[in-house]
Amino acid sequence: MEVDVSNQPNLPTPPYYNRLHDMSNKMIQMERDGKVMIEKYQKYILIYGALLIVFSTGLFFYCFYIEMNWIQSHLFLLIFTIGVIVNTLFRLFLPIKSSYYNGGYIPVCSEEERSQAIERAQLALKYNKKLIETNYLARYCIYCNHFLPPRAYHCMICNKCTLERDHHCSWLGCCVGKSNLRAFWQFLVSMGLIGFIGSYHFSMFWYEILFVSNIWTPFSFKIGLLYYFIIMMTCISFSITALMILMLYIHTRDILYGLSGVEIGELNTKEHNHENVHHPPMSFSNFKKVLGPNILYWIFPLQIN
Ligand SMILES: [Zn+2]
Ligand SMILES: [Zn+2]
Repeated sequence: MEVDVSNQPNLPTPPYYNRLHDMSNKMIQMERDGKVMIEKYQKYILIYGALLIVFSTGLFFYCFYIEMNWIQSHLFLLIFTIGVIVNTLFRLFLPIKSSYYNGGYIPVCSEEERSQAIERAQLALKYNKKLIETNYLARYCIYCNHFLPPRAYHCMICNKCTLERDHHCSWLGCCVGKSNLRAFWQFLVSMGLIGFIGSYHFSMFWYEILFVSNIWTPFSFKIGLLYYFIIMMTCISFSITALMILMLYIHTRDILYGLSGVEIGELNTKEHNHENVHHPPMSFSNFKKVLGPNILYWIFPLQIN
């Protein structure tokens, strides 16, 4: 590939694209600071999270199963709710490690193709262009100075390459990729279930209060506090459920395509540039490849052998 850059800052496409969603240096630095903070205070964040969960679930059970006396009439719901909360706690406290790539891969192609890959990467960096090399055997990471294995991508926030990189998760403070996509998906399902269970309980509560009989009268300081908690938790539950449904839709779709978030982004960029893009068909075998052979592996944080 011959590219004369001396008098031509607009490089031909493909494989060079104008960046659609470029992160500014300030944004990258902010994300990096956040990542450092999460790593530094991980222990305390977990302790704080655990206390918050214990406190709010305690209040939750007190409100519904003691105060409203649901313990006998809603026994199955109680068992299901406890199961979901325990599963979520396991998911939260089991380590979620990123699969960072540290070099060593040599692409199977000619020496010339390898040097062209390095040249492409240098040009992209020089002109701040996005490089999409779906049709090339050799890809080079200019930041880490190594050849990339198939489906590995560099993360500007982690400043490392990640195998099968999906996206950088600001909440977890690491990249989601090959080793933790399944944990991430389960995390979304767990949080979605928590949100759904909360929404269900709170909907039943408001239905009972508004249309059946207002059992929480006369109004007192204690009842006022419980109302405050219930109103707050109703908003949080519905927001979490909506957000998790959206996230699950996006990530389940990507998993069914057998593509990572980065690869979907590459296809979108090509489509934006009016190129013919071949979307792979959705397949359930892709889902099983990531999530495990059966439903037990999809829901519970079991180890896949
Ligand atoms: Zn890299
Ligand atoms: Zn990252």
